[in-house]
Amino acid sequence: MSVTLDLTRAAPAVSAPVNLSGLTREGLRQALIEAGVCPPEKAKMRASQVWDWIHHFGVTDFAAMSNVAKDMQAKLAEHFTLARPEIVERQVSKDGTRKWLIRTAPGIEIETVYIPDVGRAGALCVSSQVGCTLNCTFCHTGTQKLVRNLTAAEIVAQVQVARDDLEEWPSPKEDRRLSNIVFMGMGEPLYNLDHVADAIDIISDNEGIALSRRRITVSTSGVVPQLQALGERTQAMLAISLHATNDPLRDVLVPLNKKYDLAQLMAGIRAYPGLSNARRVTFEYVMLKGVNDSPEEARALLDLIKGIPAKVNLIPFNPWPGTDYECSDWKTIERFAAILNKAGYASPIRTPRGRDILAACGQLKSESEKVRASVRRAEQAAA
Ligand code: SAH
Ligand code: SF4
Repeated sequence: MSVTLDLTRAAPAVSAPVNLSGLTREGLRQALIEAGVCPPEKAKMRASQVWDWIHHFGVTDFAAMSNVAKDMQAKLAEHFTLARPEIVERQVSKDGTRKWLIRTAPGIEIETVYIPDVGRAGALCVSSQVGCTLNCTFCHTGTQKLVRNLTAAEIVAQVQVARDDLEEWPSPKEDRRLSNIVFMGMGEPLYNLDHVADAIDIISDNEGIALSRRRITVSTSGVVPQLQALGERTQAMLAISLHATNDPLRDVLVPLNKKYDLAQLMAGIRAYPGLSNARRVTFEYVMLKGVNDSPEEARALLDLIKGIPAKVNLIPFNPWPGTDYECSDWKTIERFAAILNKAGYASPIRTPRGRDILAACGQLKSESEKVRASVRRAEQAAA
């Protein structure tokens, strides 16, 4: 069933106050000056104080900023907001995976997933867009039209919501539960690079959420012309959704391949800034039964990535209602992994997590649609 979104409801409210959580340090300084909150010569110092409250302590109320004078708190509250978005739904899986459906504006619903025991302690899978313009045939998000790019504030909000839930304010120095961020939720991050880069600047700032850029991974389906800029602007770890080792098959699975083929993609990856054995690229490879899972393809994959500091992440396909693809048999996946391992590549098979709450890769769509459908039904009933 396809669902058409009412785009007229997706426009952000014109008069909504700016949420300071989405501004970079420099952006925050300028905003304070423009709003007349403090004189320009004091703005850097004031921005630094406010920053600490927002990103280290996680406060949502200007009145909690105890080293900021009362009249300045009032001015801040007059011009800006720190409100968290509405949490429409929160689900916890049997395996500890948590999923939030967050509404940031009318019609803008974002799914964010926390997966424990991934990375150093636990990874948050964030979305960069609502829907996606690309139509990878095995991906549920790809069946949903792009609604719009998320703002930096909406990306940072996903981290804040997770940290509220995990009770990680102020930023703990050690023993964090949320240790890694992966841009593997809804959307193609390289089609929203400006906001993704600002959000990464904010969440990696040492006097704030302070997640190391080495623990932030951006996954792309292969927007080759933006790879260089991604590396230079964010120093994030790179993940590439490869899924096929030849152009005819990749044209079908990841149609963006028709624009940037494998030769261009591999050249772009080889040139990714900062690539080294300590900073390897991750190749994601979804295991589709009878489509891309033969031993020949495992060997072709080795040829393709030869000489690139890399690991391969084999993702068992997560089915969704209406898909024709099936997940490869476990034995086939293991045989594929063994060929890569023998050649010296770390190639973990990604255990599906949160399947009972449809929180696995490529499944992020259905819940918001269900909610939208129920809202529509309620609206129709009330009309
Ligand atoms: N748009 C970006 C990031 C989001 S998708 C990208 O494509 O890389 C995150 C990962 O989930 C990608 O590797 C994607 O190919 C994979 N994925 C999508 N649908 C899936 C499914 N149904 N089962 C398993 N993995 C899937
Ligand atoms: Fe978009 Fe990534 Fe899904 Fe492809 S796999 S449709 S790029 S979200």
